This record gives sequence, structure tokens and C-alpha cells, in this order.
Amino acid sequence: MASKGKSSESVKVIVRCRPLNSTEEANGNYRIVEMEGRTGAVTLTRPAGGSSEDPKVFSFDKVYDWNSQQATLYAETAAPIVDSVLQGFNGTIFAYGQTGTGKSHTMEGKEAPEELRGIIPRAFHHIFDAITAVANPGKEFLVRASYLEIYNEEIRDLLAKNATHRLELKENTDSGVYVKDLTSYVVKSVRECDKLREFGHKNRKTGETLMNKDSSRSHAIFTITVEQCETMPDGHASIRMGKLNMVDLAGSERQSKTGATGERLKEATRINLSLSALGNCISALVDGKSSHIPYRDSKLTRMLQDSLGGNTKTVMIANLGPADYNYEESLSTLRYANRAKNIQNKPKINEDPKDAMLREFQEEIARLRDQLNAAGTSGGPGGGPGGGHRELVVEKVVEKEVVVERVVGVSQEEVDRIRRELEAAKEAEKQALLDENLAQREEALRAQAALLEQQERMASEAERVAETERKLRDLEAKLIGSDGTNIIDEHARQQQELERYQAELRRREDAEREAARALQEQQDAMLAKEEKYGSLQEEADAKGRKLKKLYAKYKAAQSEIADLQAEFQTEREDMLETVRELTRQLKLKAATIDLFVPPEEQAKIESRAEWDDEAEEWHIARAELAGNAVANGRPQASRHGRRPVSVHAKIASILNPSNPRYKGENVLALELEMPERTTQDYEGVQLNPTIKQAIDAALDDSEELSLEGAQNLPSMYFSYDPEGTGRAKGRKKSIKKPAR
Ligand code: ADP
Ligand code: MG
Repeated sequence: MASKGKSSESVKVIVRCRPLNSTEEANGNYRIVEMEGRTGAVTLTRPAGGSSEDPKVFSFDKVYDWNSQQATLYAETAAPIVDSVLQGFNGTIFAYGQTGTGKSHTMEGKEAPEELRGIIPRAFHHIFDAITAVANPGKEFLVRASYLEIYNEEIRDLLAKNATHRLELKENTDSGVYVKDLTSYVVKSVRECDKLREFGHKNRKTGETLMNKDSSRSHAIFTITVEQCETMPDGHASIRMGKLNMVDLAGSERQSKTGATGERLKEATRINLSLSALGNCISALVDGKSSHIPYRDSKLTRMLQDSLGGNTKTVMIANLGPADYNYEESLSTLRYANRAKNIQNKPKINEDPKDAMLREFQEEIARLRDQLNAAGTSGGPGGGPGGGHRELVVEKVVEKEVVVERVVGVSQEEVDRIRRELEAAKEAEKQALLDENLAQREEALRAQAALLEQQERMASEAERVAETERKLRDLEAKLIGSDGTNIIDEHARQQQELERYQAELRRREDAEREAARALQEQQDAMLAKEEKYGSLQEEADAKGRKLKKLYAKYKAAQSEIADLQAEFQTEREDMLETVRELTRQLKLKAATIDLFVPPEEQAKIESRAEWDDEAEEWHIARAELAGNAVANGRPQASRHGRRPVSVHAKIASILNPSNPRYKGENVLALELEMPERTTQDYEGVQLNPTIKQAIDAALDDSEELSLEGAQNLPSMYFSYDPEGTGRAKGRKKSIKKPAR
């Protein structure tokens, strides 16, 4: 990649404040923000009741107050970035601020009236107006669009059919950080872009209703890539590629304020994570001491890596609410924005990038042309399908086109007709040759067969040529300017004129602003020079004034330090609160595991787990066989039954009481509880000799019954001595558990 204009430039930071809304007015809230368009100063006054500190003053590249128009904001801040993208630079426009301060209003706006359209739809018009004005066969363009959302640290493709599918970030040396498998559409008009935006927006909506909350919890990025190829008179062609990112960030307010817990807290920590990672990157970039910028801390910062301290032209739009009750949030936004001013980027034109899709298109078109030419001249077999890789890349884009044209089967009819004619001729020939000898006839038939075959070959060749022509037309239709029509109409020309005029006006305004600033500096310089004034009185006056000024500055710095400390303190408390909550959750999990999972099982699982850095997840081999994963396949138990029965069986037995199939169903596998010993174990019982004697005497009917011995019967009738028999143990049956 070659580079041009490698000088560094800082991130442009502008601030926009929306008007008080009707609710705020009704509640008696009042405005605490003052803005001065000429110098770019914003003044924030602490609402009454607070301390007597001086109002806070910040200055930015440009500021837009509550009366500002979308068109003005676009022309002054977004248009220069879009112009750069059209030259082959990368550009990023992102909106930052508390929820409800106008980020979406600024980035997207409303469809109607036209004045309310935001930056994204205006950029579509800008890009296509500019392209149609200059596109011609010597200058071709290819425009692509993609739309994604980062929600809960997961990337979702808003243009995919299945937007719930989460995508991964990858990195390579050619194109830097990119989203793997992100859908990207080739677009040829503003209408197509609008459609994609609408489609993506709907996909975002689903998330909104699910979370019962607006889009303020996710970051949305709409990206347009403009590739252009210019062919010089000497035949040399060069490709440039500019990428425009338009980012609507999640709300910057502190989530802990909203009292979030559980899932919500998790979500909040992740949004905060992205935003604080963004803040950390900004701090690291501007303090000049850190050699490490923590881009990898969140998905958002990794995606914006090139936009902050990279090769991109970046504009940050900080949105403010005007009302008194938003003082803290507004101050925090202004501080954030103030720091971002100092980030240095080194924008450069992307020349002949390796990942240009346009090149693939052109190569494919050239290949198809060659194939057509070859087919036209020789009539022999044309070139086979080209390099597999190239074919694949083009397919990737083509397959996403909505309309798929069918090939018209003209050639098949042709083949049929030829075959019919030939068969008729064959029949006639047969008649004529009837008298000839067999060998001659066969010879003639063979010749005809060969002829038929050749004609069929030609017919299929014609079909292939038609197919190639169709493919070529398809591809050419995607390249704007390749058909040679210069689509600039009168309206577009007027539009261009107007924009040029506006740009000129902007330049003049910039110059004026610059002059005002210079004047201010001169005044400061004069103040310094006053010291040199002759009389001591004058010198004392000058020093007094200077002292006053310095003292004011000192005071301001002091209160700034106090504010920052307070801010850090709250941030620290927030983080500690989050850590405490996470520790609580962790302890619960640990307790569950310690009490219910056998230690050896836990050790086994832990030894098998592997940390996946990319997905930030633990991977455990064969997790699909784990208990809870398998349990989903088991029948569900019905409740309140005398014995555990599955829901299915219970319903079946109610529906058909005469069917005994489910009568005794039991979802638990209960095993029989076998006794420790069986009756056989008692075989070797020895009767007490006294009893034996008594029984024998009783059974002996030959003699007279004597009950003498009965008086001496012990309380224990017989004793059992398992050791004595030595058999009980050997006989003990081991009962095998039935296999499940
Ligand atoms: P965010 O995206 O920052 O949460 P929105 O863009 O949704 O905020 O703005 C909140 C409300 O304020 C919307 O109804 C929007 O129309 C209105 N609003 C925002 N900025 C302006 C503005 N500059 N002028 C008029 N209305 C605005
Ligand atoms: Mg919004």
C-alpha cells in the first residue's frame, strides 16, 4: 500500500446540544449550557444550590446549539470526511453521549421532512451524487455496504438473514481488524442503501423489544466502502479504496445509577466495559507516556482501532442534554470529548489495496470477455472456468443479489430442431440407399452420426457463449460507470454547484473563525508586552492584571482537579460495586460446585477445559455429552403424582384409561431393595438342645408327654451363630443391578 499525505492530524471533536424537550419544560427544568459558535466554546454552569464554582468552559473544533440544522451540521462536519472517503481515505464519524441527547437524531434523524434526515442518509446521497458526476469508462466505482451491532460484547450482523448469529473479529496484515463472515452488499443507488439501512434497523428493533428498552444498549456501525479504479491514458490503472464508518454508540450514562442487577447488570457492565475501554484508549493515546494502547479490551475499541490513533480521518460528535438535572453527565461528556481532541491520526490514501473487490470484478470481467472472444473466433472449446479463487470471491458477492435470472433455454430447442431435421434426412437417405450394399449404408450412417454430434457440440457451445455473456452483463451492471453512460443530469449538476458554493462558504467561515482566534492570540500577546511599558505604574497594573488572570486560571485548575478526583472516585466505587456483585455471583457458583459436584469430577472437568482467547469462553471437549446438555432429551416429570411419572405418560393414561401401557409408568429407575440375607442363610440354625429335647418329647407319641423340661426353658429360644455354621457368608448372594 502506498501512502500519500502522511502528516498527522487530530481527531475533530464537535459538540451538539439538543433543545429542552416538552417534558423538561413542563417540569420547570432550565438550560445550563451556553454555546458560542464563533469560538467553539461551551460553558456549563452548575445548577443553583451547588457550590459557587466558576462555570466550566471548554473549547472544541465546532459547536452546534439547540437551533442547529441537520443540513448545516452535515455540510460542516460530515461532508469533509465523506469527500475524503471518495478520495480513498478511511473515515469515521461517531456520536457519543448520554441516552436521549440526540445521537440517533444526529446519525440517522427522521425520514421526513427532508431537513430532519441525519448524517447516514445524507452520506448516501453525497456518495452517489459524487460518483455519478465523475463515473465514466475510464473511472469505475464499486460501492459496498454493511451494518452491524455490538451488543453484550457480541457482534451481530444486521444484514444477515439470521441476525442472532454472532460474528468474530479477525485480524490480518492486509486489511487489519475485520469481522469474519460479515454480509456486505454491492449497492448501486441511494435507494438500495436506504433499503439496507431499513432492513438492518428492523433487525435491531427485535433486540429492542426483547430487552424492553431502546437501542441505547448497543453500538451500531454502518459501513460504506467505496472502491474506484482510474485508467490513465497510458493504460495504467490504479485502485483506491475508502471506508466510511458511521457509528451510533450506546448511551454513556452510568448504568449503576439505574439500579441494574442480575442479567441487566451483566449487560450494563459490558456496555460500560466497551465505553470505559474507549475512554482508556483515549487516555492512553493522549497522555503520550503509554506505549501500549488497550484496544483489545473490548470489541468496540478493536473495531475503532484505526479510527483512534490510526490511518483514519475521524470526527467525534459529543451530544449533550441542555437541562440542569443532567449536569454530571454533561460534564462527563465534555471531559471525554475534551480529551479526545488530542488524539493524533495519520490518515493516508489506500492505494491498490490487496483486498479490493473491484480488482476481482475486473479480472472476472476480463476473463469472461476473453472467453467470449475465443468462442467467437475459433468456435472451439473456450477457456475453462478461471482460477478457482477468483471465481469464488465474485460468487460471494453475486450470491447475495436478490434477483437470480434464469438462463433461457433457446439452445435446447435449436438442438431438437437440428436433430429432427437430421432424422428426417436420415429417413430419406435410407430409402435412397435401400438398393446399395450394406457396407456402404453403414458407412453413410456413421458419417451422419458424426455430423449430428458435431452440430450438437456447436449448439452447446452457443449456449455457453450466451451464459458467459449473461454473466458479463451481470458483473458490468455492478460497476458504476462501466457501461459508458455518464449519468449526470441537470439536477445533480445543480446540486454539485450548490455544494461547491456551500463548501466555499464553509471555507470562508473557517477562515473567519481562524481570524477571530488569531485576534484573541494577539490580544494575549499584547497583554504580555504591556509588561514592557515604561512607567512602573503601568508595569504594576499589567502584573496585577496578569496575576488576576493567572489566579483565575489557578482556581479553575484547582476545581478541575477536585472534579476529576470526585469523578475518579465515583468511577472507582462503580467498579468496586461491580466487582462485589461479580464476586457474590462467583461465590454462589463456587459454593454450588463445592457442595454438589464431586471434587474428582470437578478436577477432571477443569483439566479438560481450554480458554479460547478469541471467543473469550471456556471450551470443554465433548460438552454436548454433559449432564445438562443431555438432560434436555429426557422426558419431563409431571408433578404431584404418587410416583414420578412423565407428563407424556400421564396424559396418555388419562386419554385412554383402558390402555394398561402407561398405568405403572415410573420415570425414575428404581431398583429393588434386596435384603441383606436370604432365607437360605438361616439353614444352618442349631436348635437349643433343651428345645430339641422338648420337641422330640412332644412328637414322641409312644411315651407320655412330660412338660418337666418346659419349666427350664430360657427366655431365648434358639441362638444363631453365623460364625459357627461358616456357611452363611458363602451363600450370601450378590444381586446385580439391572443395566439401565
Ligand atoms: P439518543 O440516540 O442519544 O438516545 P435520540 O436521538 O433518540 O437520542 O434523541 C432523543 C429525542 O430527542 C428524540 O425524540 C429526538 O427527536 C430529540 N432530539 C434529539 N436531538 C435533537 C435536536 N437537535 N433537535 C430536536 N430534537 C432533537
Ligand atoms: Mg439512540
